[in-house]
Parts: sequence; C-alpha cells; structure tokens
Amino acid sequence: MQGIAENLAEVREQIASACRNAGRRPEEVRLIAVSKTKSAAAVREAWKAGQREFGESYVQEFLDKLESPELAGLPIDWHFIGHLQSNKVRQVAGRVAMIHGIDKVSTAEELSKRAVQHGITMEYLLEVNVSREGSKYGLDPSSLMQAAESCFALPNVRLRGLMTIASPEPSIARREFAELRTCLERLRENAPEPALLTELSMGMSQDFEEAILEGATMIRIGTAIFGWR
Ligand SMILES: *Cc1c(COP(=O)(O)O)cnc(C)c1O
Repeated sequence: MQGIAENLAEVREQIASACRNAGRRPEEVRLIAVSKTKSAAAVREAWKAGQREFGESYVQEFLDKLESPELAGLPIDWHFIGHLQSNKVRQVAGRVAMIHGIDKVSTAEELSKRAVQHGITMEYLLEVNVSREGSKYGLDPSSLMQAAESCFALPNVRLRGLMTIASPEPSIARREFAELRTCLERLRENAPEPALLTELSMGMSQDFEEAILEGATMIRIGTAIFGWR
C-alpha cells in the first residue's frame, strides 16, 4: 500500500493533467484534503508532504483534531465541508478559513451573528442540491437566488460561491457541475459585489476531473489521499 505522501503526489499530478485538458492553470484549482474520520497523525503526514488546506465534516471530530498534540502549532487552513446546523455554528466560527455546507438563510444569519460577536469576517459557500436527490442537503437551484438575496445583506460574512455533492455516476455528475457553474454565473448577475463570487467547491475522489473541466476552483478529496474510510 502506498503512503499519504505518494497518494498526494499522484492526486496533484492528476489535477495538473485535468487542468491541461480543461485549458486551465493548476493554480486555479485548490486541493482540499478531506481528513474526516482520519487521525491527526494522518493530517500531519499530509502536511509534511506540503498540503495546507484540509476539510472536516463533523464538528466534534474537528475540534478534537484542532487540539491534538500532533497538529499543535501547524498553520493549517481548515475548511468545514459537512452539513452545518445552526446550533453548531458557534463551535466552528473563527476556527475555519471557509464553511462550505450552508443551505439555509437562518444558518448564514447565525454565522453572521457569531462573526459580529468575534469581530471577524467569515467566508462561506451556499450548498446547492443540483442532483435533486431527496437524501441530500442543499438548496434547490430554484430557491437559490432568493436565499442569496437575503445572504448578501448580512454583516461580517462573505458569500464566496457555491458548493455541491454530485450524483455518484461521473457522467451525470459532470452535467450537475455544469449546472452549479450556471447557478454561480446567474448569482453574479444579481450580486451587489459580483467580484467576490469566485468559488465553485465541487468534485471528490471519484469525479474531480469532471469538476475541473466544468470550472471547479476547490476540489475536496479524501479517499484518494487517505485511503478508504
Ligand atoms: C467525505 C467528503 C468528501 C471526500 O470524499 P472522497 O470521495 O473520499 O474524496 C468531499 N466532500 C464532502 C462534502 C464530503 O463529506
């Protein structure tokens, strides 16, 4: 079995190759290493191999990792990529570079409230359910504009773009990624500060190449780096 450093090198090569195919520069795509359910030691190993952005999905696990001796003092940009309930916002506010999975105006309002309290500005993405699978979180594309309108007005938070989890089949996923890109374009047309809306967080181990072809700026990869969960 190969180690985390080798996996990372391989994934980075695949990203570079997907970028070439898409006519994009590799710097346009940020790799977020998804370390949920994996140990702090595994995160440290990836960090030593040059990885700086990590994604976590579960609040308590994330807080435990933050405090683990293996990661003490390491400058890491954490991304919260799981579904975030309003009552958990307080625990991640101020501790992450970006929150990806917000799918309700009320959660964005809570984030805004906490950011004001801390005197900081927090960046986040709205999650959109482009696969329209009932089991998935995310705003329906048809209600995105209205939700975003309410979000634009909130203080101390910056909506930076959209996030999605696509259908398992990569060819279907590709159409869904294209739809998320269209959603972002429409959002920009209606935004008070369109220049802030630059991010498309889409693509995982199974489908990141398709996501890069459709304009992903952040891909979230767990299994291909850390192995099966
Ligand atoms: C777990 C997870 C990932 C990573 O998935 P892999 O298939 O392991 O690459 C990406 N995004 C979200 C939201 C996740 O929960």
